[in-house]
Amino acid sequence: MTEQASREIVLHGIGGSPGICIGKAYLVDKDGVDVVPKYAVCQTKLEAEKKRFKVAVKKAIDELHAIIKETSAELRENAKILETHVVLLKDKMLYGRTIDTIDKEHINAEWALRKVVLAIKPLFEGMDDPYLRDRAEDVGNVCERIMKHLTGSAGVSIRTIDKRVILVAQDLSPAETSQIQLERVMGFVTDRGGRASHTSIIARSLEIPAVLGLEKATSTIRNDDIIVVDGTAGVVVVNPSEETLAQAETRKIEFENRRAFYARSGHLPAKTRDGIELTVMGNIEMPEEVVAVKDRGGDGIGLYRTEFQYLARQDFPSEDELYEHYKDVLDVMPGQPVTIRTLDINGDKAMAHNSDIEENPVLGLRAIRYCLKKPEVFITQLRAILRAAQHGQVRILVPMISKIEEVQQTRRLLEKAAESLKKEGFRHQRRVPLGIMIEVPSAAIMADALAREVDFFSIGTNDLIQYTMAIDRGNRHVAYLYSPLHPAVLRLLKHVTEAGARHNVPVFMCGEMAGESIYVPILLGLGIKELSVNAQAIPLIKSAVRAVDVEQARQFVDRLLQQTTIAQIEKLLETTYGDLKNNHHHIWER
Ligand code: PEP
Ligand code: MG
Repeated sequence: MTEQASREIVLHGIGGSPGICIGKAYLVDKDGVDVVPKYAVCQTKLEAEKKRFKVAVKKAIDELHAIIKETSAELRENAKILETHVVLLKDKMLYGRTIDTIDKEHINAEWALRKVVLAIKPLFEGMDDPYLRDRAEDVGNVCERIMKHLTGSAGVSIRTIDKRVILVAQDLSPAETSQIQLERVMGFVTDRGGRASHTSIIARSLEIPAVLGLEKATSTIRNDDIIVVDGTAGVVVVNPSEETLAQAETRKIEFENRRAFYARSGHLPAKTRDGIELTVMGNIEMPEEVVAVKDRGGDGIGLYRTEFQYLARQDFPSEDELYEHYKDVLDVMPGQPVTIRTLDINGDKAMAHNSDIEENPVLGLRAIRYCLKKPEVFITQLRAILRAAQHGQVRILVPMISKIEEVQQTRRLLEKAAESLKKEGFRHQRRVPLGIMIEVPSAAIMADALAREVDFFSIGTNDLIQYTMAIDRGNRHVAYLYSPLHPAVLRLLKHVTEAGARHNVPVFMCGEMAGESIYVPILLGLGIKELSVNAQAIPLIKSAVRAVDVEQARQFVDRLLQQTTIAQIEKLLETTYGDLKNNHHHIWER
């Protein structure tokens, strides 16, 4: 036990997913030693710290003995290596020096061990004798084993966590986040990450609280520390006092009651005060989430991010596998639209087996650019979609379109996919509505020309803001520049909705802006016909729609568009529609 253990520490970050959870921290060590905690240990606690180290070493030795005992005769060679590990664990150089370092430098056991290992490993590595050189690796293994018993964090895979914890990591990729098992993980906090990152989006889909961009989470929080995560406010409290804990419990209950209250109203229609009915759909990343969308009263799937079927694996999914996934979703949504977005790979969602490292992945071979470059991958997906389309109301949505030719090429490949299915005798639906994401500024600017090529537009504000403002949506340092209320963003939205109206092309929105109740009057005033949001926001957005009069909202948007700063726009929105702001879900709030 150290002094830090009892002191309450408040860390401020970015609210990634609303809600509150209270529990034990579990450090996910991705980059090895980087998350080894370092802290001072005062004179009176030194004995206890040394004991903690000795206990960890003892556990490591017991563990090795147990493994050796179970090793069969054929694997005697392996057991021998483990026996050398046992010897190393007791070695003066490692064991004795770590204890000395704790003693002399008044530092914690993990840090002392790390220091000693960094010093002795090169000694082995530099030896002439190959046998001794190999011992460097053993030192590393032994260190990991002790570290595991000190911090419990070595070699953690999110899939294998076996207790209810709150994950603490430097960063979690969207693919890793999508592996989180809800019965094990209550929430998570990360040092890096921005407000519109896919990692936050998945946390919202999973309905677990998350705080990102904390900077110092992994260096402050230790394994098994009790922490409070307030994903609504973007705050994490480490070692909370009795009082803080009691307040957090109350806020947690309030939040959950409120969520349950809204959930009950999810099936009421989203009809405005002047009687216009809006469609509110759900965004999903995994086929399983479709049930949550249905339960919350979603009118269909407005965005199915299909790339998650490609991420955490070493090969490409087959056409049959994809077909089964899509059919699963359609079976839950009979008679309702399911918008299957074609592969939006790369950017922050690289495949595990991708070897092409790009310098600026967000500006690189992402989404449709990748698909057109790899037509065999694209056609496999298009064929799976067309085959699945016979089981429901499918729409195809193409991400990252930046010029007309990309739409035309997509159409040609779609034709080719249908042709090949026909030739091979597969049942399929040949005519499927084809829409594009409006998420690159060039597409927004060219909306009137693009409208002639497609059946619908779906605005992706997450990327539209990223590319309009020239900010990486996952970078916490520029998160302050990320606002759907920037006048440039609003003008682009207006330009797109007008082009859609002129050409009779419906304009939908599936970016996160659609999931914030305060923005609903703006979207209705702009004439957006359909919103698609994360499942938990569906009831809330429907209830906001019921509070708005479209004609009034239209006039309001005209006034809003005359403003030239975010501050003016925010003020006008707040004074006119402030009641719609729901703090429990207002994820953009800092
Ligand atoms: C968007 O960019 O707004 C969007 C909905 O797509 P994604 O978040 O998957 O990039
Ligand atoms: Mg996007």
